[in-house]
Amino acid sequence: MSVALVTGAGSGIGAAVALLAAERGYRVAALDIDAHRAQRIAQLAQERGAPATVAVAADVADADAVQEAMTTCVAALGPPVAVLANAGIERNGPAHQLPREDWQAVLDVNLTGAFLTARTAIGALLAADLPGSIVVTSSPSAFVGFAGGGNAAYSASKGGLSAMVRSLAIDYAPQGIRINAIVPGAIDTPLLVAHLAPDERTAARAAMQHDARAQIPLGRMGTPEEVAEAALWLWSGLASYVTGSHLVCDGGLMARSANTF
Ligand code: NAP
Repeated sequence: MSVALVTGAGSGIGAAVALLAAERGYRVAALDIDAHRAQRIAQLAQERGAPATVAVAADVADADAVQEAMTTCVAALGPPVAVLANAGIERNGPAHQLPREDWQAVLDVNLTGAFLTARTAIGALLAADLPGSIVVTSSPSAFVGFAGGGNAAYSASKGGLSAMVRSLAIDYAPQGIRINAIVPGAIDTPLLVAHLAPDERTAARAAMQHDARAQIPLGRMGTPEEVAEAALWLWSGLASYVTGSHLVCDGGLMARSANTF
């Protein structure tokens, strides 16, 4: 049975992908920086039908931790032929006030973390002489500026990811390793309000839902489960001729020119 590895599996899109993978019969490795959340999703994945699971606590920005996580995954489940490099953070602010540490943290997790995940997974696949499908989680901000502004670090990280996908896809096509990106639009997850004080989050989510009705062509924000379907399709044999590509799952957000998201 195929093995799936998901980073940032403890919440939002990563959790939805890990659980959908479980329902589709994958053996699931749930990696998150938060050990308890990784454990909870691994447990839920088991309950949803995964034949085997493993929870791994690791910071994707730490090369040694990612290598160790891959060793744990391979030992427990086998080499992951389906990978979602998804862990991400957002630190927003006008560039002239953005601390260098925030810029670096966003690039370290979103861009370097995905590179380390992809690199390590490719190594495991090559060692096992297996084909595979690696998906990274990009963003509309790789292609357009967010109207809300203050998004330089996040946009740069996602733009870098999208460029990396094309390059890796060319490099590893001969070995049958496909590399693609999903591009979720405004998806209702904790990430969208993580930068706000806890008492501001409910109102902010309500405001986003309101804006979505007016501004997103499909009239609402997306769910992590809808994005999970896109990722699982890219993993599957149905996408056997797709590599170096972006699958936009944004309710039409980018198709329209005037948005506040
Ligand atoms: P989320 O609910 O915050 O989930 C992200 C998970 O990744 C969290 O459990 C988080 O832990 C974990 N994580 C953060 N830093 C990590 C690290 N260094 N190593 C391992 N795990 C780490 O966010 P989400 O909305 O599902 O986002 C998932 C991905 O989708 C991100 O790459 C994001 O940029 C992208 N995305 C999201 C949207 C959207 O609208 N939600 C749109 C486009 C793209 P903590 O909570 O402890 O940080």
